[in-house]
Amino acid sequence: MAKRDYYEVLGVDRNATEDEIKRAFRRLARKYHPDVNKDDPEAEEKFKEINDAYSVLSDPKTRAQYDQFGHEGPTGQGFGDFDFGGFGGFDDIFVMFFGGGFSGRSTNRRRGPVRGADKRYDLTITFEEAAFGAKKEIEISRFEACDECGGTGAAKGTQPETCTQCNGTGEISYTQNTAFGRFVNVQTCNRCGGEGTVISEPCKKCNGRKKVRKIKKINLNIPAGIDNGQAITLRGEGEAGERGGPPGDLYVYITVKPHSLFVRKGYDLHCDIPITFVQAALGDEIEVPTLEGKVKYKIPEGTQTGTVFRLRNQGIQRLRSTSRGDLYVRVNIDVPKKLTEKQKQILRQFETETGGKEYHEQKKSFLDKMKDVFGA
Ligand SMILES: [Zn+2]
Ligand SMILES: [Zn+2]
Repeated sequence: MAKRDYYEVLGVDRNATEDEIKRAFRRLARKYHPDVNKDDPEAEEKFKEINDAYSVLSDPKTRAQYDQFGHEGPTGQGFGDFDFGGFGGFDDIFVMFFGGGFSGRSTNRRRGPVRGADKRYDLTITFEEAAFGAKKEIEISRFEACDECGGTGAAKGTQPETCTQCNGTGEISYTQNTAFGRFVNVQTCNRCGGEGTVISEPCKKCNGRKKVRKIKKINLNIPAGIDNGQAITLRGEGEAGERGGPPGDLYVYITVKPHSLFVRKGYDLHCDIPITFVQAALGDEIEVPTLEGKVKYKIPEGTQTGTVFRLRNQGIQRLRSTSRGDLYVRVNIDVPKKLTEKQKQILRQFETETGGKEYHEQKKSFLDKMKDVFGA
């Protein structure tokens, strides 16, 4: 978030006297004090902003620097952040402002290690690769510790030096006069940005940033059974950490291309197979596709359309297991649409032939039910 102009924050003119700044701060600090605005994060933010502005503008030296350099400050690293970590929270501030003494308290504000950011990579694989697992090589672009300077940011042959302003502690304490009395303010050192060290000659490769963007090839083991939308986590393969912090993780999100024959549901596969009316009536050995190739499957005489057959263990291998789901094959009778005159004759003959047989009995019982429902 861009910082607001400190004069604007305090609502004072750029030429405001020290006294005017003090009065503006006192008024705003009372208004937005967190103890007066409980459970209002906006007031808390506002209060911090006011405190930041006052911390800089109340001191003629930092005010002059602010007038000249803006929020960047003379070092380009800003004026440090003036959060209340060093005070031990708002309670102390309250005591400080509205009575009670203030004991100069110093906690170590030197910035600690920061874990690197996580990264996301999207990978599309085939249906078979998801079913059987696969090895893939992927390329990701990420920040890694600069190998030229070994991640110190200092030019080759040089070392980061201990910051002379904070003596390597990363923090500065100074006594501040406020409208509410004197107190010791502890803030992040603005020379070294809390690092405790400064680089006089930055590394040419990373410009003192300590890390460089690199293309990294990663061998990825895709486990058998992975499904669309699942992710593979690679610990420590994300962005590099800072100040000795661990790297982030890499999440590879998997998209599985659909298959032309199979629909996957969990670890089971579903497949529709067309058969002829004759195959259904007489039974037949049909060809069924499986992940490993075609297999023969016997359908019995008198198979009805829509019948589902289960082929055990012909589905997808379960993740981290050797067991497999099943393959469900549904047969659908293809009713012929174009028949020759001869074929029609045969079918008419067939119809006459089947009169009174089981097929017809079924039809009769159906007609009886119709009568029951609709009357005569
Ligand atoms: Zn470097
Ligand atoms: Zn320093």
